[in-house]
Amino acid sequence: MADTARRDLHTTGTIAGLRAYLTERRGHGAIIGLVPTMGYLHRGHLGLVERAASECDEVVTTIFVNPLQFAEGEDLEDYPRDPAGDAHKAEVAGTTVLFTPEPAEMYPDGADSVLTTVSVADLGVHMEGVSRPTHLAGVCTVVAKLFNIVGPCRAYFGEKDYQQLASVTAMARDLSFPVQVVGCPTAREPDGLAMSSRNAYLSPTERKVAPVLHQALCEGARAIAAGETDPVAIRALMAGLIDDTPLGELDYLEVVDPLTLSPVAVADTSCRLFGAVRFGRARLIDNIAVSDGAAAARGDRSGS
Ligand code: AMP
Repeated sequence: MADTARRDLHTTGTIAGLRAYLTERRGHGAIIGLVPTMGYLHRGHLGLVERAASECDEVVTTIFVNPLQFAEGEDLEDYPRDPAGDAHKAEVAGTTVLFTPEPAEMYPDGADSVLTTVSVADLGVHMEGVSRPTHLAGVCTVVAKLFNIVGPCRAYFGEKDYQQLASVTAMARDLSFPVQVVGCPTAREPDGLAMSSRNAYLSPTERKVAPVLHQALCEGARAIAAGETDPVAIRALMAGLIDDTPLGELDYLEVVDPLTLSPVAVADTSCRLFGAVRFGRARLIDNIAVSDGAAAARGDRSGS
């Protein structure tokens, strides 16, 4: 890392302001870390910031609820927001630059007028691609903008949103962004529920049963580790657990190849398991590697 003393938190809402700040810091040899978020920060986000702070001289945390990745009727307007709390948490975790643009800064003519979008073929076809057909292109487009605004950097993304991580990794490679994408493990509550800003939507009763999504994925992983190879049987096992849970409405459960993210015909221990379940207003997604899920099913909660 460069010999650059950390400074007080620098906050800007403009692209020009962020570029000017980073140009000056790069002039002093600073390595830049980038953590894109939609805010309402929790331990999952802060883990990314801490990792970035341990590897970079400047950590840019962006907080932007990106309209392009929400479809009509989704929770864009209701998405939880806490600007003051976020600024404090981000700074304590090691953020040096907070980028908080208004939608008009990112989309001057409105998100509806954006003509150029980035979509990653194949990786975005299944799972979220089926349930939220415009979502991943909205994510890749805003991340491409952030990569262009920030410039050469290390960019930190969570495995919690694995299709997003895989798509952004492919995008950076295919479009030659000078960005090294770093994937970080999923942070979980003690009962296994993946941390998510949308967990704020859960009523107390829904919150009690929501860990069933992770439990179902772990049971699927345990079955594969025990020798089950039929994805239909594995999906049925996992779906049974969700169906037996009051308040949970299943969207999808898939056994996929870890690189192509396509459903497999024959499951093995290299696979990843993905699921999405709606609990009232909250649509929760999660995924695990079979090896981690099988360890968690045996009671070892260290698996992600
Ligand atoms: P979001 O604010 O939900 O768009 O998430 C911003 C970043 O934080 C993305 O890279 C997410 O994958 C990551 N993230 C969200 N939740 C978690 C979690 N529980 N563990 C690790 N990373 C997470």
